[in-house]
Amino acid sequence: MSLSPLPVYADACGWNALLPPRPPRPPAQGDIRVKYAVVGAGYTGLAAARRLAELDPQAEIAVLEGTTVGEGSSARNSGFATRFDAKVGLSPKEAARAEQLNRFTGEGFDYLLAGMAAGGFSCDLEETGRILGAATEAGEAKVRELIDGAAAQGVAARLLDRAGVAALTGTTYYRSGARTESGYLLQPAALIRGLADALPAGVRLYETSPVEAIEEGRPRLLRTPQARIRAECVVLATNAAIKHFGVWRDGLVTIYTYAGLTEPIAPERQERLGAAAWGLLPAHRLGSTLRRVGADRLMIRSLYAYEWPIDSRAAAQALKARFDRRYPELADVRLQYVWGGTTALTMNGSPRWGRIGEGLYGSAGCNGAGIVKGTVLGKRLAEMIVTGDAQEALQSAYGRADRIAPEPFRTIGFRLVSAIESRKAGAEM
Ligand SMILES: Cc1cc2nc3c(=O)[nH]c(=O)nc-3n(C[C@H](O)[C@H](O)[C@H](O)COP(=O)(O)OP(=O)(O)OC[C@H]3O[C@@H](n4cnc5c(N)ncnc54)[C@H](O)[C@@H]3O)c2cc1C
Repeated sequence: MSLSPLPVYADACGWNALLPPRPPRPPAQGDIRVKYAVVGAGYTGLAAARRLAELDPQAEIAVLEGTTVGEGSSARNSGFATRFDAKVGLSPKEAARAEQLNRFTGEGFDYLLAGMAAGGFSCDLEETGRILGAATEAGEAKVRELIDGAAAQGVAARLLDRAGVAALTGTTYYRSGARTESGYLLQPAALIRGLADALPAGVRLYETSPVEAIEEGRPRLLRTPQARIRAECVVLATNAAIKHFGVWRDGLVTIYTYAGLTEPIAPERQERLGAAAWGLLPAHRLGSTLRRVGADRLMIRSLYAYEWPIDSRAAAQALKARFDRRYPELADVRLQYVWGGTTALTMNGSPRWGRIGEGLYGSAGCNGAGIVKGTVLGKRLAEMIVTGDAQEALQSAYGRADRIAPEPFRTIGFRLVSAIESRKAGAEM
């Protein structure tokens, strides 16, 4: 079992491997003094650092990343983003909260767009809409629920039969689907690398600089293998790894999930891959995500593991089996890259966010949607720090993460729920 302060992955991130090599920024060394230290260069940390620099342009800001940018979870994901979560079938109270959340989602998405514009880089962002795919009877009920709710609220959603899903995705595996217009796909390693390289003046990024300990005091002292960083204010943007610092252990669970990217598929077989660009989300939360990547590859994301990673070879075999079930005619196609990543799960989906102590702030628990959510939560955390605004609207929209039962009940409970839900998910996996 690893005692590392951050997740250590057995396999390189496939999205990062598709890009030209990027030389990492040098590690932090010696004695460093800054006003703000941001720990973690994912979406949350980079948004916080950028916003701190915008609001306090004279301040010196250090971002400390334990790995290299492009190898953390912010690059290891499926690249689904949205500026508007179409929530349908909600009670009036839930609908009001969904509307508030949508405003923050839009703000996060726009902040990403502004970062892309400032950096002048591409991350293959495309508005593709998204498909909710159903491979089981229970999944079909979810699809109908989405279609009915959408109609009642005047949201555009199209019911697809098996042939309709196949026309878009190239697989006849799904019985039906619901296609909604809102939804984007992007190359996550290109996005996080671009954002890191476009940080404003005043922000210094240090890579391969895991923060091993934070000592109390004003300023606080952060220790990395080669540096001692003194900071008046520390932002913990380490996602579930925040637990290493003894913070929010009662509210966050680390979940490993896995993705595989096929090798390039020959041009004469590419008509089997469906439409030019599409992304499919599963009708069950333990199901598999699928998407097309460029002209010639497919990606599958699946499997969940609680707190500890699955053996790499077992994960690769399981992903390939799930891919083959969907594309039996492409069974000879290899998954060229398979990798795992972590998400921080909270029981009710609300993040842990805000002030932790004197000069110490944090944000964690984006579940599976941190590209946009991490961005807005990081941005708003910086606003809270600099302006003192308590961010009540944000806190009321996102809510507060429920506490999780202590050990051993937590592990027993998780295993039980996971077994029950896996049985329910069935062919959606
Ligand atoms: C396979 C997979 C698919 C996913 N699909 C999607 C998707 O399609 N859309 C979506 O929005 N989200 C998706 N997610 C979730 C998304 O990746 C996360 O929500 C997002 O990365 C959270 O961003 P973050 O900045 O809060 O945390 P992270 O991206 O985890 O960034 C935290 C950073 O902190 C660093 N760190 C940790 N501890 C330390 C330390 N002690 N010192 C220094 N650095 C440290 C880590 O190395 C890491 O780079 C997926 C996740 C996975 C694993």
